[in-house]
Amino acid sequence: LASLAGIRDIHPLAFDIARGNLELLYGLEKHLCALTGFDRFSLQPAAGAQAEFTALLMFKAYFQDIGQTNRKVVLIPDVAHGTNPASVNLAGWEAKEIKTIDGRLDVDDLRRNLSNNVACIMVTNPNTLGIFERDIVKINSLVHQAGAFSYLDGANFNALVGRYKPRLQGFDIAHLNLHKTFSTPHGGGGPGAGALGVVEAVMPYLPVPTIERKNDGNFYFDFNREKTVGKLSAFWGNFLILARAYAYILSLGNKAHLVSEIAVANTYYLKGWLCPPYEVPFGEGFLHEFVISCEKIKQETGVRAFDIAKRLMDFGFHPPTMYFP
Ligand SMILES: *Cc1c(COP(=O)(O)O)cnc(C)c1O
Repeated sequence: LASLAGIRDIHPLAFDIARGNLELLYGLEKHLCALTGFDRFSLQPAAGAQAEFTALLMFKAYFQDIGQTNRKVVLIPDVAHGTNPASVNLAGWEAKEIKTIDGRLDVDDLRRNLSNNVACIMVTNPNTLGIFERDIVKINSLVHQAGAFSYLDGANFNALVGRYKPRLQGFDIAHLNLHKTFSTPHGGGGPGAGALGVVEAVMPYLPVPTIERKNDGNFYFDFNREKTVGKLSAFWGNFLILARAYAYILSLGNKAHLVSEIAVANTYYLKGWLCPPYEVPFGEGFLHEFVISCEKIKQETGVRAFDIAKRLMDFGFHPPTMYFP
């Protein structure tokens, strides 16, 4: 569908008159809102990392508006994806590590680190070990009591699609990687789309353009947003990935929950194949992914995880993410 001429070949400057494509973007935003519970989505960020950075700019603008410019600390669990602290550094703020116990956030350590200098927490859920943060409602309410925001790194939403709306568990903002969860393959090094969902409080700061509907039913790009953090890149986001996500979501109809069911089944299928000889060092109750260790193999044979990944590439497989968290 993304390769239909009217979608693939449209010139970016012709979008103002390409009403069907504008309607597609508008519809995608509505579907993402329905799946997550958020009030609005920006489809502009070209990657998860760019969405994180955008959110931090929005928080910065918000805290400036309410006169709390002391809030510059972002709390990040020690199992977080590397883009989280990188985005914080890029935004000129300070990342502070929160400990985990058995792969889950240590709520006491969070309590110790909350203060009126904290701007937000960035939580990945399910986290990078594939485990659900059971205490997330409590975590989010502690963060709110401290006057900070809660950011969900929802890059991998597969195990939750159709079953769980992060907004209802207290998240204020979240990105979804449409190039991981909504049909565009991840790992090819190609273009991405990190759609950013927000609650009303930070809506005024959304990047431009947003897509709006006029009373006569026509759609348009709105650049006229007084408090916007600005424009993130050329043109309208990665439109073809957005088109794929839209078609994919429509194709699920009212069976979106099957995505999460299959994602979890796939995890256990793969784990059954790989363990043994590999071992799972952390956690239980895996959702979209799990982490394996090659420690035992290294001790017995001297072969490192790195060697195994390189050998996979010899056979044409994209190797899994290495040496993190
Ligand atoms: C992939 C990923 C990101 C970064 O997304 P990009 O689109 O690669 O910038 C952030 N957090 C998590 C948990 C991820 O898996």
